[in-house]
Amino acid sequence: MEETDETLLDFGNTEIAFSHKSDRELKNTYWLFKLMNNPSLVRIGSFFGKLAAQVPFHLMDPLIRETIFNQFCGGTNLLECQRVVDRLYHKKTMTILDYGVEGRERDEDFQNTLEVNLKALEFAYSNPNIPVISTKLTGYIPISVLEKIHAKESLSAFDQRAWERLEERFVILCKKAAELGVGIFIDAEESWIQDPIDQLVDKYMPVFNKEKPILYNTFQMYRKGRLDYLKSSFEAAQSGNYIFGAKIVRGAYMEKERKRAKEKGYEDPITADKLVTDTQYDVSIRFCVQYPEQISLCNSTHNWNSCLLQTELMAQAGIPNDHPHLNFCQLLGMSDNITFNLAAKGYIVAKYVPYGPIKDVVPYLVRRAEENTSITGDMSRELKLLNEEMMRRGLKNA
Ligand SMILES: Cc1cc2nc3c(=O)[nH]c(=O)nc-3n(C[C@H](O)[C@H](O)[C@H](O)COP(=O)(O)OP(=O)(O)OC[C@H]3O[C@@H](n4cnc5c(N)ncnc54)[C@H](O)[C@@H]3O)c2cc1C
Repeated sequence: MEETDETLLDFGNTEIAFSHKSDRELKNTYWLFKLMNNPSLVRIGSFFGKLAAQVPFHLMDPLIRETIFNQFCGGTNLLECQRVVDRLYHKKTMTILDYGVEGRERDEDFQNTLEVNLKALEFAYSNPNIPVISTKLTGYIPISVLEKIHAKESLSAFDQRAWERLEERFVILCKKAAELGVGIFIDAEESWIQDPIDQLVDKYMPVFNKEKPILYNTFQMYRKGRLDYLKSSFEAAQSGNYIFGAKIVRGAYMEKERKRAKEKGYEDPITADKLVTDTQYDVSIRFCVQYPEQISLCNSTHNWNSCLLQTELMAQAGIPNDHPHLNFCQLLGMSDNITFNLAAKGYIVAKYVPYGPIKDVVPYLVRRAEENTSITGDMSRELKLLNEEMMRRGLKNA
C-alpha cells in the first residue's frame, strides 16, 4: 500500500500524544517536567525522597502522590490501577503490570512478592488488555546470593536454600501464568547478578513457551556480548521447538556498571559509547523481526528511531501492524507521543504500569526524575513535546 499523509506515523504529533489529558492535566504535567528539568531540584528531591522512604511515617506521601507518583505509577495497589488500565484501553494501549518494590532481604518479603505477582496474574486474566506482568527476580532472593552464584562462589546452606526457594516460587508463578495464559517479563538487572537470572529463565522457557509465549527474558543492548546471547537463546528455542520471548532494552544501570568495573578493575561490560549501543539495539530488532512466528518481541524503548525501525521493517516484510508477536512498550508517564501514535496506527503497544506502596516505589521514581533532568540546560525530550502541545492548545505563548 502506498503511504499517504493519513497513514504516515508521526511521533511529533502531540495532539494524539496528549489527547488523553485535559488542559488542567496537561499544565500539571508540563510543570512537573519543568521542575524535573532542573538538576539541582532533582538532587534535592531525590535526597528527600530517599529520606522519606526510610522513616516509618508517611509524611511525604501526599506530596509525592500528587506529583511524581501520579505521573509515573498506576496506584498503590491493583484496584487503584484499574482507572489507568481503563484509560489506556480507551487509547487502544495495553497495560503491563509492574510491582515496583525493589531490594528486599527477608524470606517473608520474597513470599509477599510471589503473592503480589500471583494476584497481578489474576487481575490481568480478568482484564483483556493486560497480556503480561513484569517482575524482578531480586524481589525473590537476596541480591548477595545472586552475586555469589554469578561469581561461582560456594554457597552457605542458607544461600542454597534461598536459591531453591526462588526456584520453587518461580515455578509456582510460571505455572499460574501458563494456566491463565498471561505472560511474564523478567527484568534484566545489574551485570554482576544477571547470570543466575538468565540461567533460571533459560531453564523454564522451554517448559512454559511450547504453545504460546509465557516467559520473556530481557536483553540489555548496552552490554557487550548480549547480541550473541540473544542469538544463541533463539537457536536454543529453535532446536527445543518453543517460542522465544525476548524483551529488548538498552539498559538502565550504565553509570553503576562503569563505576564498579573501574573500582574492581575488570573489563567494562558496557559498550564503548551510545552509538555502539544504538547499533547493537538496531541489529537486535532487525534480527527479531525476521522471525515473527518464532520470536515474540517486545521492543521496550523511548527512542524514536528504534520504534520507527521496527515499523519500517514490518512494512517491508508485509507484516500487519497488529501482529501479536511484534510489540512495543514504554513506561507510564513517558513518551506518550510514541505509545499513542503507534496505537493510533494499529500497532500492539503497551505501557509498563508500576504500582506499590508510595515509600516502596521511591527508588523507581528517583530514576525517572533523574532520567528527565537536563545536564546541558536544554529541555528534556518530554518537556519539549509538552511545551509544543501547550502552545498548540493556546495554553502558553512561544
Ligand atoms: C518498557 C520498558 C522496560 C524496561 N525494562 C528494563 C529492564 O528490565 N532492565 C533494564 O536495565 N532497563 C529496562 N528499561 C530501561 C531501559 O534499559 C533504558 O534505560 C531506557 O529505556 C532508556 O533507553 P531508551 O532505549 O529508551 O533510549 P535512549 O534515550 O535512546 O537511550 C538511552 C540509553 O542508551 C544507553 N547509553 C547512553 N549513553 C551511553 C554510552 N555513553 N555508552 C553506552 N550506552 C549508552 C543507556 O542504556 C541509556 O539508558 C526498560 C525501559 C522500558 C521502556
